Amino acid sequence: MKKILKISAIVLILLFVVVVSWTFTNLHDRHSGYSADMKIINETPSTLSAGFAAVAITPEVPDRWTDVNDDHKYKPKDGDTFTDGNGNGKFDPVWIAGFSNSKPANGVHDDVWARTMIIDDGKTRLAIVILDAIGFMNDDVVDVRKMIPEETGVTYTIIASTHTHEAADLLGLWGKSPFKSGVDKKYLAFVKEQIVKSVVEASGKLRPARLEISQDLTSAIPMVKDTRKPEVFDSGMRMIKAVDRENGQTLGSMVAWGNHPETLWSQNLLISSDFPHFLREGVEKGVFYADSLIKAGIGGVCVYVNGALGGLMTTHPSLAIKHPFTGVELFEPTYEKTEAQGMQLSLIALNAMETPAEIIDKAAISLVVRTLPMKIDNTLFKLGAAMGVMKRGTMGWMKMRSELAVVKIGQVSFVTVPGEIYPELVNGPVEAPEGNDFGIQPVEVPVIREMMPGKYKFILGLGNDEIGYIIPKSQWDTKAPFTYGREKAPYGEVNSLGPETAGVIHRNLQEMLGELGE
Ligand SMILES: [Zn+2]
Repeated sequence: MKKILKISAIVLILLFVVVVSWTFTNLHDRHSGYSADMKIINETPSTLSAGFAAVAITPEVPDRWTDVNDDHKYKPKDGDTFTDGNGNGKFDPVWIAGFSNSKPANGVHDDVWARTMIIDDGKTRLAIVILDAIGFMNDDVVDVRKMIPEETGVTYTIIASTHTHEAADLLGLWGKSPFKSGVDKKYLAFVKEQIVKSVVEASGKLRPARLEISQDLTSAIPMVKDTRKPEVFDSGMRMIKAVDRENGQTLGSMVAWGNHPETLWSQNLLISSDFPHFLREGVEKGVFYADSLIKAGIGGVCVYVNGALGGLMTTHPSLAIKHPFTGVELFEPTYEKTEAQGMQLSLIALNAMETPAEIIDKAAISLVVRTLPMKIDNTLFKLGAAMGVMKRGTMGWMKMRSELAVVKIGQVSFVTVPGEIYPELVNGPVEAPEGNDFGIQPVEVPVIREMMPGKYKFILGLGNDEIGYIIPKSQWDTKAPFTYGREKAPYGEVNSLGPETAGVIHRNLQEMLGELGE
């Protein structure tokens, strides 16, 4: 009896040691001592240069899955047997991120990309890379920065994601089960290499440029639904077109809007960048109906940027998209609907770009960057980080390394937000509905766009990180009585670090924008 007790005690102690060391391995700071902190204030305008590149990050989807079913709708069930090219039947597909676990890619509809825009004022070289991915963690962003060759001359690199729900998992939350990471390490390494290539290529293509700025803040409103009250959107479209100063050719463009790229919804099993694919094609090559060109494209590389898309901006299947040429209303989440949406968006962008509101001939680049520890209050996130499902280290106990950046280029400003921010926090108003968990008035005021300098204010959502939803504290709602007459808690808080996150981000942005100046 004594012996059994002794053995059990030893086993328990060993188990404890294993679990503790496993947790610490998962949580260790992957970039100990690293800080992105930077402050460059430049008041002297000079001629700008711009360079663009598009490098594919499309994963290899094994043929065997397309063999399984020709209509690409197959979803494996337990007990299914598979044969791969080697005949070993190993089930290791590319997991599609978004909506639910266990969604193996069955093929590729369109390439996913690392698209880069570089702007240089002769002193500072700013690279903005946008990935067709559901998100890219700050640890991975730092990895990439350490890989970018010095010869590129890049001062600071922003890596943001479009948040497409139809691409391979890069965060780990959508594997075969909630307890298994869906990230293929080899694919993640490939994505990092391709980002580096994209930055190298764009810096090699720098040309003296002028920037044509345009916006249309109303036309795209009908294409987003807000599935959580209050109804506040980020549906204005903002565009930058970079034109070669010497030959007048388009070098590239940036198109910004705020909506989840998930028009294809939850049953699609083909890799795709969702509506941004059709939008970028339209802007670059023109919009076609059948085989006729309806609106000419501008050429160059189009970079699509997502803004405030939390709380919860989506093209839900209950929202119809009107086909721009047939007038047919499309509800079902198909490629036809997604293409119609992309065509509409590119038409709005192309029309606005014909009459730019501002031409920036000379400007200075100023920027302020802060590395920020973000406290994890959410128990599920703590568990995910400890178990290594969510592959990211911490700086300090249960604090994620994250980052904020603010940039000013003449009348244009950028703010990176490290996750899915509720548009209330960006455009206002932040509400304080009766029943909010803390019984408080709005904390995060004035709202972000009010604090930003210049006339054209770009939000780079999922900028340098994806920490989940960023929710106003006065709208936090997990306990009864619920806000807005709800019978149960709304969806959102479960995917947020906690109720203090928005306040921390707001406070820091306020200080940083203060440093940036008018
Ligand atoms: Zn989302």
